Amino acid sequence: MFRYTFPFILLMAILSACGSAPNSGPQKVLATTGMVGDATAALLEGVAETEILMGPGVDPHLYKVSQGDMQKLSEAAVVVYNGFHLEGKMAEVLGKLSKQKPVIPFAENIPENRYQRAGDQPETIDPHIWMDIVSWSYGVNALADTLMGIYPEAKDKIESNKARYLRQLDSARNEVELLIKAIPAERKVLITSHDAFQYFGLAYGIEVKGLQGVSTVSEYGLRDVSDLVNFIVERRIPAVFVETSVSDKSIKAVLEGCAAKGFPVKIGGSLFSDAMGAQGTPEGTYAGMMIHNARTIHNALK
Ligand SMILES: [Zn+2]
Repeated sequence: MFRYTFPFILLMAILSACGSAPNSGPQKVLATTGMVGDATAALLEGVAETEILMGPGVDPHLYKVSQGDMQKLSEAAVVVYNGFHLEGKMAEVLGKLSKQKPVIPFAENIPENRYQRAGDQPETIDPHIWMDIVSWSYGVNALADTLMGIYPEAKDKIESNKARYLRQLDSARNEVELLIKAIPAERKVLITSHDAFQYFGLAYGIEVKGLQGVSTVSEYGLRDVSDLVNFIVERRIPAVFVETSVSDKSIKAVLEGCAAKGFPVKIGGSLFSDAMGAQGTPEGTYAGMMIHNARTIHNALK
């Protein structure tokens, strides 16, 4: 007996109906996360339209493709995603689509010597590589090369878009570096709900600690909370941070633990870890989100 589930049948039907070649019809490119979408849109400005699947506050680790998304993915000429299992629940769909059209894993095209392993799982590569602007810029270069292959007629345009975008990223890197550098050494500790800031810590010189591992799919235990509470109290860290795409439940448990030990800790602000801010605001861009994070961390720990 055949027991295909309904969404699977629907997926196959849509995929077989809408195999669009990159150079025919409207040129629409679909990106999964805001960070990948920001780079894609910048490179393809004046060439093709970029649409972003995951908006503000959306957690890519937990994201599941809806029927509406399937339609968008099928109609897109090109799909760009982060990779390294950031979009863990989209793997099957992306794998199928890659047989029909260019499906580009942005982060996986960054040189290997820029990768960090996940702390608790040495075989897993930490997907949050956008947190190091220089590493991310390698990805911008690689994506530009791939897009020039797909849109050869727009090679010069993509090249000049890339140069402009990389200048913006370099200026953001400079600002982030200065802000983190100015935090007193004994307070240079960034505490968040999940381990999204490992690359940030290494690139800009700040110790990082998260309650959950590199994916929000993983659970944290009471032991993790009490270890972190002890660490904060011992080191007298003044603030911890919430993330816009992750529940603040775990961080609140840490705050309560610190208060119970007579060391009240404040929430230093909200950081954009795996999703950008609202469209049309400075934080709705990759460079803007990185500067917002550095400013928030600086102001809370300085
Ligand atoms: Zn994450």
